[in-house]
Amino acid sequence: MTVPLDAHVVLRGVAKRFGDGPPVLAQVDFAVQLGSFVSLIGPSGCGKSTLLRMIAALSPATSGEILIDGRSPERGQPGVAFIFQEPTLLPWLPVQANIEVPLRIRRVARAERERRAAEMLRLVRLEHVRGHYPRELSGGMKMRVSVARALVQSPRLLLMDEPFGALDEMTRHHLNEELLEIREAERWTAFFVTHSVAEAVFLSDRILVMAARPGCIVADVPVPFAYPRGPELREQRDYHDLVDRVAQLLRAGEKGEGR
Ligand code: ADP
Ligand code: MG
Repeated sequence: MTVPLDAHVVLRGVAKRFGDGPPVLAQVDFAVQLGSFVSLIGPSGCGKSTLLRMIAALSPATSGEILIDGRSPERGQPGVAFIFQEPTLLPWLPVQANIEVPLRIRRVARAERERRAAEMLRLVRLEHVRGHYPRELSGGMKMRVSVARALVQSPRLLLMDEPFGALDEMTRHHLNEELLEIREAERWTAFFVTHSVAEAVFLSDRILVMAARPGCIVADVPVPFAYPRGPELREQRDYHDLVDRVAQLLRAGEKGEGR
């Protein structure tokens, strides 16, 4: 497969194995344009987290090439933010200070830090707990702080590894809608790992369906619904039809079809 080299993120022939273990990912090829929202969906263990970690340069590819803006990614590079499955907040800092951490690392002046953090607190609806410590928050609230901490960096590339998997459905819906609202203003490229087909269809303009052993992409599905998208999308017939189709592709991939 040939992939265009001028895309925001390019993977060419990327494979991964840990030590002399079995191949975890085999021959992953795709290119993603700036501003695209791509979901990765696939069975547990198919290498979704590994793929995101490689794009973030947290783990090297065994072979193949990964390019962000035409260059190999570097760990902690500006413009790339990661939201992990766990909120990973610093327990000794209150909410607002946690959100400011990436800005402190980049030596952003205090007034600007506070302005950006306040904006993020508003976006994730946590203004009322800005002075609370992580231990005082519910799991869902901690994850919202984690989202705010990523977005405060004004990323161009946002890598999210099942960020809302632990939230109740209503909160998840709400955060999905907020995430798209924020994206209207900021337009980062998103990679979003999820177990929820419905969430993938709601958020993305493209869904990469994966299969396991070894991990590979078995379907590349465009999502045609125009942005901005609101909760009414979840009531549309063609939305549900697409959710059904992606779920089918996922099942087919698990059975080893389409390889
Ligand atoms: P997913 O996120 O899709 O559930 P992962 O990327 O976490 O899958 O893992 C894919 C495979 O790679 C699994 O079989 C897992 O056990 C293995 N794996 C992940 N990280 C490591 C590691 N650091 N060392 C060895 N094996 C690993
Ligand atoms: Mg994972």
